[in-house]
Amino acid sequence: MRTKLLINGEFVEGAGEASSVLDPGSGAEVARVAEASSEQVDAAAAAAAEAFERFSRSTPATRAGLLLEIADTLEKHQDELADLESLDVGKPWPSARDDEMPLTIDTFRFFAGAARTMSGSAAGEYVEGHTSMIRRDPVGPVAAIAPWNYPLMMAAWKLAAPIAAGCAVVLKPSELTPLSTLRAAELLADILPKGVLNVVHGRGASVGDRLINHPGMEAVSVTGSPATGMAAMRAAGRHIKHVHLELGGKAPVIVFDDADLDAVADTIRFGSFFNAGQDCAQPTRILAGKGIYEKLAAAVETRVKEIRVGARKEEGVEMGPLVSEEQRSRVAAFVDRARIGCEIVAGGSEGGGDGFFYRPTVVANVDNDAEIATSEVFGPVVTLSRFSDAEEALRIANASRYGLASSVWTADVGRAMEMSSRLRYGFTWVNTHGVGTPEMPWAAMKGSGTGCDMSVYSLDAYTSIRHVMIAH
Ligand code: NAD
Repeated sequence: MRTKLLINGEFVEGAGEASSVLDPGSGAEVARVAEASSEQVDAAAAAAAEAFERFSRSTPATRAGLLLEIADTLEKHQDELADLESLDVGKPWPSARDDEMPLTIDTFRFFAGAARTMSGSAAGEYVEGHTSMIRRDPVGPVAAIAPWNYPLMMAAWKLAAPIAAGCAVVLKPSELTPLSTLRAAELLADILPKGVLNVVHGRGASVGDRLINHPGMEAVSVTGSPATGMAAMRAAGRHIKHVHLELGGKAPVIVFDDADLDAVADTIRFGSFFNAGQDCAQPTRILAGKGIYEKLAAAVETRVKEIRVGARKEEGVEMGPLVSEEQRSRVAAFVDRARIGCEIVAGGSEGGGDGFFYRPTVVANVDNDAEIATSEVFGPVVTLSRFSDAEEALRIANASRYGLASSVWTADVGRAMEMSSRLRYGFTWVNTHGVGTPEMPWAAMKGSGTGCDMSVYSLDAYTSIRHVMIAH
């Protein structure tokens, strides 16, 4: 098991406090990893700043070549990386390999192409005797903070875009799930120039805080909770930095009476409980028209009760444990508070194995302003509520403090268009939910963050627009 940090091209043990990395499927310790000391965080930041001076001047073709090599290398090691991921997060092994690794690898391939698309708008003479041109240059060294739900895929989102843009990065994986990122760092260190990638392990309050507040880090990119997003905003306020945030979500699933009921129920069964419900874009808040509510609630309940929960390598397992005891307690507390006033029609209890398991849970007859309907649970829990017409559905959905994913289910194309144009969410799926591709932005609005990951638009977070004027 790799436990060393990557700082300025060297692998070093953390000089700070060590903490346990657990197998969520059993609660057993699988590794102890020491976090970076303050001096090591500073050394990583200095290494990124030094590497930036050279790397920012590399050609797009060079960076594209490096990104393609990274993709090929990860592909060669995908079974090993998926195994670490499934061990660290507790997710079913086939899902880590077959669902996540292809997207993780393809992210690097996509950004290899994207690196070569960056251009400023046309040059011209806007003042007599002067020619202006617009440049789009790398923003500076980036502090990248990743969460624990898809550790390697989130690391890929945090790395591929800044590398494509010509930035050097200091990446901090979640202290709960560092294993796949530390192993990937070892593979990537043979490909990238020294200092372009630095990986520091540690807690948010110590290592993360020092990193995002480091004066040498000119941009901060966070995927995580709103609280961490606010910490990044505070750091940016103190030092003036670029901030890119992909935070929590509470995706509404708006189901009109004319929707394909089986398609919705199957999407909930297979989509809402994927990764044990620990996904920012997952369909979690089902808003059903009054004419379809009862039938949909019955179909969802039946299907959710079929989900097979168990350990990551058990045959046919569809859902694993939550990442930690703390996360399970948090989810259980949400469900317990919802017992008053709502109906738990499936799950609502621990169970499925020795580790941090919680059963797939359906909470029905939920008021639209109830805590369980409006707060991000980040666990295997969906809620079912009613709406009376399109205006009410929009009002309920848009009242959310989150603005990440949403979906609309209807056979009426005009209504789908009207709803999508008025939903204040970074992305809206129509008659599907959860389908992602690197070409398209994973975009955040409102309390879900700023900007987007994936797509050429994510390069905006890692580049600055500049004006150069030449007097004739
Ligand atoms: P978290 O915010 O607790 O942790 C995320 C990362 O931030 C970790 O590496 C953590 O160590 C670090 N961190 C915590 N406090 C910090 C601080 N003060 N300064 C610097 N770094 C700090 O989030 P989590 O529990 O790991 O992940 C779950 C959250 O992430 C959910 O809210 C989820 O919706 C969100 N998420 C969002 C997306 C997206 O694309 N929008 C994707 C995945 C997860």
